[in-house]
Amino acid sequence: MTMSLTIGARLGPRWTRVVALFVSGLCALASSSAGQPAEDAPWFGVAMPPAFEPHVPPVIVGERGVAPAVVPPGEDAFTALTGGALQVHLASIVQFSRTSREKREIGSGQLWGRITGFPSGHDTVSWAAGRFEEAGIDDVRRQPFDQEPGAEFWLPLSWEMRLLGDPAFGAGTEDLVLTTAMPLAPSAVPPEGLEAPLVHAGFGTVAELTQIDVRGKVAVLHVTPQGHLVFERGAAVPRARALFERGALGVINVIDLPGNERARDFSNCGGPCFNLGGRAGRFLETVMDRAADAGVLDRLRVRFALETTRRSGLSAHNAIAVIPGSERPDETIIINAHADAWFDGADDNGDGLAVLVGLARHFATEADPPRRTLVFVASAGHHSPGMNGPRNFVAMNPAFADSSVIALNIEHVAQRNLSPARSVAADGYREFVADAGEAPIVAGVSNAAPFLEDIFRRGVERYGTNFVSGPSTMASGEGGGYRGLGVAIVTTMQAPPLYHTSGEVAEVISVPGLERMARFLAFFLKQVDAAPREQLNPPESGAP
Ligand SMILES: [Zn+2]
Repeated sequence: MTMSLTIGARLGPRWTRVVALFVSGLCALASSSAGQPAEDAPWFGVAMPPAFEPHVPPVIVGERGVAPAVVPPGEDAFTALTGGALQVHLASIVQFSRTSREKREIGSGQLWGRITGFPSGHDTVSWAAGRFEEAGIDDVRRQPFDQEPGAEFWLPLSWEMRLLGDPAFGAGTEDLVLTTAMPLAPSAVPPEGLEAPLVHAGFGTVAELTQIDVRGKVAVLHVTPQGHLVFERGAAVPRARALFERGALGVINVIDLPGNERARDFSNCGGPCFNLGGRAGRFLETVMDRAADAGVLDRLRVRFALETTRRSGLSAHNAIAVIPGSERPDETIIINAHADAWFDGADDNGDGLAVLVGLARHFATEADPPRRTLVFVASAGHHSPGMNGPRNFVAMNPAFADSSVIALNIEHVAQRNLSPARSVAADGYREFVADAGEAPIVAGVSNAAPFLEDIFRRGVERYGTNFVSGPSTMASGEGGGYRGLGVAIVTTMQAPPLYHTSGEVAEVISVPGLERMARFLAFFLKQVDAAPREQLNPPESGAP
């Protein structure tokens, strides 16, 4: 330290830092060679993974912000659609999740969210109804329904993934609980726990498995999602199932994604399955390598504990707000966002619900009322078995369903885009950093109607929304409930890396992105409202 200050005084402040880093690097080298050899430190001296932290961004969200929203001429007065107004809604929505965790709504509180069938889900939908009423909408309805008979909601109440300590892994090696572990439905573990040696199964390809004996062991599967968890479901779930067919007792999916968070995806894997955060997974894989080097891999064991419940007889509700049409009240435009979420769910679907509420407030106060009837649906969602929001909306509102001309589903719309950062942590983990835009947004038009596709093209030009450049006929799980209507289903949806993880906190949402999407969707709805029915559902497009 003295040395760097002395040199720094001569070189100036910029060089002081460089020299200080160099000197501290030398000191680190000196202390590691003079100190204990790494293999005598706990867990072979491998840097410990950070402990799980709720409600914090798992990536770098720096000082530089996001590109501002574009406000086309004549739209200054749309105050319900500003980023500031929508951010306030988003904070209220995320707070329902935080309360769910604080109150330990589900068992130990390791899992939380806005969960349909539980108070957090109920309160979120009620909050949306309150915002509709506050905007002066006269026709706001809270529509309760019961969980379908026979449906069961599997929930993990408490759990633990414990690596068992052994002096063979370095002096002082004690048990280590990996706190980003997340059990997957419908895993079951005996009351006394499940303890077994670990085996690494690589990516779980057939070629790898022919050379690995997983019988009687817990297999570690490395999962590198292509962008996010959903695109990897088709590969990861069958690979886990193949491990059970070959005699594995359990599977740990190491989720190689930015950050170190709990990830809720890859259910129905065929046995006791847990996901593990990427950084904790790196630790586990490094320890397995070191144990193999030291010839003690066969002594590396894990213990699972898991307490679960299955709930039936629950109830839920949707909230709907109706703004009657001035010219064609017997034609309905349905605008939907799901209110339910796992964890903080700021993107899935806090931002979509905030935009829905903003749009309802915008159309409630517009000087020119819509020509067709607008029905806004704060949906109970699709996470809770037997309590599907859209399906119950359709069943409970046959007049709106029969008169619908289009259904718009707003889902995951304003998460910031993430890129690999230059910084690498002590454990070798490369951090991710938010940039100045939003993650890509898919625009799904179920009937590929050219008129609807063209509004998305104009949206990019007019508002700078980051819609991907190619068309899609995708309709999400939430949109599926509207398939029976026989009209166009339009879905705006992101699926970025933090999707379905506990890392989806309010700080990773782009506030200008909320505004971009809200302003675009207001424009979209006005174009749709003015268009003849045949343009929305061209006869040649057939079934949606
Ligand atoms: Zn969603």
